[in-house]
Amino acid sequence: MGRLTAVILSFALLVSATVFPGKAIAAETTKGSQTITRVGSQPSEKASAKYFTGNVRVDRLFSANAAAQFTGSYVTFEPGARSNWHIHPSGQRLLVTAGVGLTQEWGGPIVEIHPGDVIWCPPGVKHWHGASPTTAMTHLAFSGVLDGKTVEWLEKVTDKQYNDIE
Ligand code: MN
Repeated sequence: MGRLTAVILSFALLVSATVFPGKAIAAETTKGSQTITRVGSQPSEKASAKYFTGNVRVDRLFSANAAAQFTGSYVTFEPGARSNWHIHPSGQRLLVTAGVGLTQEWGGPIVEIHPGDVIWCPPGVKHWHGASPTTAMTHLAFSGVLDGKTVEWLEKVTDKQYNDIE
């Protein structure tokens, strides 16, 4: 590799790390070879109390890249834990992988979700998701990226709202 090529490549990696949100997990390319990101290469994170109620763990899987404009993470909610109300500017898909979960659109009923269920949330729909009051829940979240953002955070889901199960 020539020196100029190396400089250009380093610059491209720097730019892509800046443009795409989340921590760079591996240097993914958009053509050529596959990238394998090894399990355990990223530490688990505690979700921010600013945007979540209760204990929530995030295990990041991948950031967006130029060819695939979405991020992927496991999110694990302890019983009673949930996200704030929020909106995805480019939508979100959830795949429930364990436990019993709840989700709700603004103005709609709380709906129970179970392992194997796939939820598509279109752009702009105000909603929340979390665990049931008595059972933890884990889902995979695939979130579209628009203008560098995957989510717009809104107010907390109050205990009254959370316990309004029909
Ligand atoms: Mn969501």
